[in-house]
Amino acid sequence: MTQKPTATQQPAAPQTAGATGILAGDPRLLIDGELTGATGGARFEVIHPGNAQVVGTAADGTVADLERAIGAARTAFDTGDWSGDVAFRQHCLMQLHDALERNKERLRRIVVTEVGCPISVTGSQIEDPIAEVKHWADYGRDFDYLVDTGVHRAVIGTARRTLSFEPVGVVGAITPWNVPFYLNIAQTVPALMAGNTVVLKPAQLTPWSGSELGRIVAEETDIPAGVFNVVTSNANAVGAALSADPRVDMITFTGSTATGRAILAAAAPTVKKTIMELGGKSAHVVLDDAKLERVLPMSAMVACVMSGQACIMASRILLPRSRYHEGIEILQAAMAATSVGDPWNPSVLQGPQISEAQREKVLGLIASGVADGARLVTGGGIPANLPVGYYTEPTLLAEVDPNSRIAQEEIFGPVLTVTPYDTDDEAVAIANNSIYGLSGEVSGADADRAFAIARRLRTGNVTVNGRSHFGLTSPFGGTKQSGLGRRNGDEGFREYLEIKTIGHPA
Ligand code: ADP
Repeated sequence: MTQKPTATQQPAAPQTAGATGILAGDPRLLIDGELTGATGGARFEVIHPGNAQVVGTAADGTVADLERAIGAARTAFDTGDWSGDVAFRQHCLMQLHDALERNKERLRRIVVTEVGCPISVTGSQIEDPIAEVKHWADYGRDFDYLVDTGVHRAVIGTARRTLSFEPVGVVGAITPWNVPFYLNIAQTVPALMAGNTVVLKPAQLTPWSGSELGRIVAEETDIPAGVFNVVTSNANAVGAALSADPRVDMITFTGSTATGRAILAAAAPTVKKTIMELGGKSAHVVLDDAKLERVLPMSAMVACVMSGQACIMASRILLPRSRYHEGIEILQAAMAATSVGDPWNPSVLQGPQISEAQREKVLGLIASGVADGARLVTGGGIPANLPVGYYTEPTLLAEVDPNSRIAQEEIFGPVLTVTPYDTDDEAVAIANNSIYGLSGEVSGADADRAFAIARRLRTGNVTVNGRSHFGLTSPFGGTKQSGLGRRNGDEGFREYLEIKTIGHPA
């Protein structure tokens, strides 16, 4: 990570920084109900990606701070009422929902400040997760925690069997920086509603989306001390310690596949349950009867809106050779027309990359694509009018070899690769030629043919003809090295529950 740790004394109150909208978040941890600085008082800097300026600091939590948080979560789970009182949980989460509504504009400014996400597209970063809190509060209230499965015969006689759905215990949530507030909610609120206690470890680049959630929980809800803890830190060692600690029963993680592997290895000795939402390299199979002028501008927009920093984005466009040049022209025009710039400008669609390191990674991958024989159609560098901040030009690469690095590695930038194909079978084979299996897209006028192709993609999710697979009531997750487990839907709630089968007299 790029920030330098800084040591300061007492945490200060959150501050606004001028008219640009930049807003610093709370620089405190939440441990055992107390908002506090890190042990030793260390802080680390938070940078606004839109102008590369340091805009404030966050508490640089230590492994000792984390261990206190885990201890508090363990005690709250083992000795408190949280895991057994559904009505109280629902009450607390509705309080949280209402508090988030009150803090909505503050949270929006914090997300734009630390992510650099354009303010025009913050609905999915702010409104959606706030609505999600209410969804899980209601879902968990209505969930059947005891299910009678009837009388069963066994050698030693008959038994009635009842399934008891019970919280897993202490859940460690490790979240990334691309949609930090959304994932802080998505990875903790269903866990809490299911009766678990939580330690949240936000990403280094976006600590305030986590620390603000901690402040709101502490100041504006009845959630008991220890049930929800937040430990921001500039050290990967803190996430690693959370993954390994024997007092933690489960890890829910979103981030890169490389980090996911490290977490799985650290969690293995204590056989933790995990949800892993990892990288993606999704393909968009455009069939030869597709309406290109409708389908492709949308693909270009999706690639740019979050600066390509979205794991579900379909970054590999597969075009039928018969319509290849027509498709490239449409994509080129759409990418070149994307408004890139200051995320505070409401007409901007694409903001900066999150950090200089991320931008360098993106530019390096583009260069590798060209070196491997791809043709740079548009973009490929830093916009000339945006020398300050971490901006990248929307980039289109054509004639991309499906085995080349740029077709195989997750880019996380505003970059689309295009590869031609001759037959539907070849398109499916190219789409499936990946270690990843998160999502995919199919477009074509013949809906049955498009649906049949969707069924052949080895991924956890597919969008057909622009009808999104993504939503709170539908399971979401990856196959292959894109992950384990599901978020959202009934499946997403059950991930945070263990099933106990009780045999008892009929
Ligand atoms: P990126 O590399 O894009 O920053 P990561 O997947 O590494 O994304 O980071 C996602 C989250 O994982 C962050 O909260 C980060 O602090 C955390 N993390 C990084 N390394 C480890 C690790 N070894 N163990 C546990 N968590 C980690």
